[in-house]
Amino acid sequence: MHDFHYAGNELWCEDVPVAEIAGKTGTPFYLYSHRTLLNHYRTFDSAFGAIPHLVCFSVKSNSNIAILRIFAREGGGADIVSGGELYRALKAGVSPKRIVYSGVGKRIDEIEFALGSGILMFNVESSQELEQIDACAGRMRKKAGIAIRINPDVDPMTHPHISTGLKQNKFGIDIESSIREYRRARSLKNVNVIGVDCHIGSQLTDISPFIDALERLKELVRLLRGEGFQIRYLDIGGGLGITYNEEMPPHPEEYAKAIIENARDIDSTFILEPGRVIAGNAGILVSSVLYTKSNNEKNFVIVDAGMNDLIRPSLYSSYHAIQPVRKENREETVADIVGPICESGDFFAKGRLIPKLERGDLIAVMSAGAYGFSMSSNYNARPRAAEVMVKDGKYHVIRRREAYTDLTAKERIPAFLKK
Ligand SMILES: *Cc1c(COP(=O)(O)O)cnc(C)c1O
Repeated sequence: MHDFHYAGNELWCEDVPVAEIAGKTGTPFYLYSHRTLLNHYRTFDSAFGAIPHLVCFSVKSNSNIAILRIFAREGGGADIVSGGELYRALKAGVSPKRIVYSGVGKRIDEIEFALGSGILMFNVESSQELEQIDACAGRMRKKAGIAIRINPDVDPMTHPHISTGLKQNKFGIDIESSIREYRRARSLKNVNVIGVDCHIGSQLTDISPFIDALERLKELVRLLRGEGFQIRYLDIGGGLGITYNEEMPPHPEEYAKAIIENARDIDSTFILEPGRVIAGNAGILVSSVLYTKSNNEKNFVIVDAGMNDLIRPSLYSSYHAIQPVRKENREETVADIVGPICESGDFFAKGRLIPKLERGDLIAVMSAGAYGFSMSSNYNARPRAAEVMVKDGKYHVIRRREAYTDLTAKERIPAFLKK
């Protein structure tokens, strides 16, 4: 559910017409509904009310500090994958005691930053990383809380949508090797083994892989506890899908119910790392039609947002619904909706049946709140779009549009080129 809806022929965000904001801020821009973000967070969090839990929002899905602060004020934590994300989470007011740090390539300076900040735990993804964390913690006279990220190798046959096969990807450590690593971790002086972690994928629309993974994690927790490990946290990652087109993912309450049922026989604090399910449908990308053109094969609608603003269609062939901000009674047509970037891969939709668009029309690329702005770039020297949030009938710019001066602000012409 979300708060973008038509009233008459106009698309609104909560109780503000999208066109009104576009008139003030210009296009392209990302637009978020505060109400949707808060509702999604609260729905997810309260769905787990029956068990001890911590919701750590996945910062990589949307890292704007105003958005992170909404969840921080609800008592939420953060799942980070870099020092930069740690900086953002802290800046947003997330308590370090509620931050978990995942990722296969944590640098020494990033590990030190996290140790110095006093985060809850590192989700360790390799044997060498474990050693590195221990060494850093030793130098800093700190104890690092750790979990090992398990690659539970959830059977791809029964779950073809994640059939990339988990064993062949770079994340985590397989269960058998993880036991070895846990034992080794115990012999290290500067780490505290406190958890078990996994994250099996993204945009999952079926509950069963989550439950399969949880079963494997539980077995591991029992085995470790049998050896005297004090495992307090069971981190089951993120990955719950959303509706972009016709997907029918389980509702967070259904997902939580299934987890809770399978959590009865294990005494642990659950950590959840949702990203997309919270932010995805809470944001849209608003863009203007620059030109239209046709050849005898195709109709093209050229808009002022590009793959540098939203790369998901180009990168993953993802589907995003595209809606006109004003939907007069229009003829329908089939068109490619493309950006201005000099790449054939720069498109938002191909062969899409849409109301006929004209120069100056505004469009909304729906479900763009997660992995939208956070994956944006300056490719083609395009200043990054503004981000705007609506709350209680007002809108707030939460990131100003970049100016041309921002593009070159960090660059230097060396002396030998100045002569
Ligand atoms: C990306 C990621 C998430 C969030 O995934 P969603 O599909 O957005 O819920 C959570 N945990 C880790 C470790 C991730 O890499």
